[in-house]
Amino acid sequence: MRYGPSTPDMTNAPQIPQLALPNVDTNTPGALVASLPRARRVYVNRSLRMEHVEWVGFDMDYTLAIYRQAEIDRLSIEATVKKLVARGYPPQLAEATYDTQFPIRGLLIDKRHGHIVKMDRYKFVGRAYHGLRELTRDERHELYHSRKVRVGPPRYHYIDTLYALPEAALYAGAVDLLERYGLNVDYHELFDDIRQCIDEAHRDGSIVDVIANDLPRFVERDPGLAPTLHKLRSAGKKLFLLTNSRWAYTDRMMTFLLGGQLPEYGSWRNYFDLVGVAATKPVFFTEKRPFMERVFEGGTESVRQAYTLERGRVYEGGNLRDFERMINAQADRILYVGDHIYGDILRSKKDSAWRTAMIVQEMESEFDAMARTHDDAAELDRRDRQRDRLEDELRFHQSQFRALAKRVGEDDAEAVSLRRAIDALKGTLRELDASTRALQKATNAAYHRYWGSLFKQGVELSSFGDQVEEYACLYTSRVSNFANYPQAHYFRSPRDLMPHEL
Ligand SMILES: [Mg+2]
Repeated sequence: MRYGPSTPDMTNAPQIPQLALPNVDTNTPGALVASLPRARRVYVNRSLRMEHVEWVGFDMDYTLAIYRQAEIDRLSIEATVKKLVARGYPPQLAEATYDTQFPIRGLLIDKRHGHIVKMDRYKFVGRAYHGLRELTRDERHELYHSRKVRVGPPRYHYIDTLYALPEAALYAGAVDLLERYGLNVDYHELFDDIRQCIDEAHRDGSIVDVIANDLPRFVERDPGLAPTLHKLRSAGKKLFLLTNSRWAYTDRMMTFLLGGQLPEYGSWRNYFDLVGVAATKPVFFTEKRPFMERVFEGGTESVRQAYTLERGRVYEGGNLRDFERMINAQADRILYVGDHIYGDILRSKKDSAWRTAMIVQEMESEFDAMARTHDDAAELDRRDRQRDRLEDELRFHQSQFRALAKRVGEDDAEAVSLRRAIDALKGTLRELDASTRALQKATNAAYHRYWGSLFKQGVELSSFGDQVEEYACLYTSRVSNFANYPQAHYFRSPRDLMPHEL
């Protein structure tokens, strides 16, 4: 099929038989959703009717391809450290072990001080580490609370992808190690060097080649992926792939993920109406670079500029405006599924009207933690209410005491007994606060040893959680979760009401 100004040509489209789809009662979506385990659900920030969606696009890395994070972190760190040592950093860096469990998405590197911090939605720094040492409340206050954190270069660097986690693990580990050797660390330069070295390792193949040659070690093949894409196609959706990865890697990865999964599809390419690689998102959304077609002829590959987009061909580069024009689709009828808050979700939201679904694979472990801390969370709520009551009581006693002391003096027997009651209440509050802090700490640690929940910081949304809420219409832990919903499902946001309406 051809997506361009001329008449569509159906000759290239493979004839795919329609598989029978499960007959789900679409009249009771609430019941359907409630029957799904939390980790298998799709969550809704902005309502979306699937029947209005004509095109569904997918990013590849960390979206269709679920990487095994610990494996890929180890590989990236190893490749990067080699380059750092070659640049003159102490060889001890290569022998050190790095805690790949340390970083999460949404952290901010403070290159001025060598700290790594987690903020809430109001840019309040709730946690911070120097190396693997947590900063005290006073240290945090001194640096971040007396003035507002202005997120951005050159001082700050935002860790917003799973891809970038090894940089943070390496930075924390290197800061610790270099300082242990008594070296004077230039924190800014160290981070920039790590960034450059890891980019270099990606460019020269030190990372990608190893992954491509051992995909089962680094990538989890989701058996639900192929049936999910098929189900979308059966519902009449057109699918496209839009990835920043290069063609050779994309072809390998997609063959691993989808090759031979369903007999109706001879190749992974048959699932997609359009395939775009080396798309250089977010530039794809903001600049007007041309689409180039990869041409495979006579055993050689070349590229030439493309003026139409056709099924079965492979494109590079490109831009949003040409894409929408060439496929002749309204922007709000395109649903794009990606994992990168900035490159996939925020840009497509800000620069176009594409609807977005964000893959947050960490949700699976968040739900585990939520289940494990269910009773503690209820206990924390109970203590919150208890604290409110005690404070009310304290204030009441205090005002009574003041009035009485004024009238009959502080040494009056009744005033003395009131004061005792006040002291006792203060003591109870102190104890309650201390034990609540301990319980809160244990609950946070169940989510993540260093940072607590990905989506929350204290009682607020974390800055990451805030961005997910702001920019992703839908979010879920993996693409195959879409298969759990009827094809014309109305993804309805629970947040249709403002606080004053509740
Ligand atoms: Mg990605």
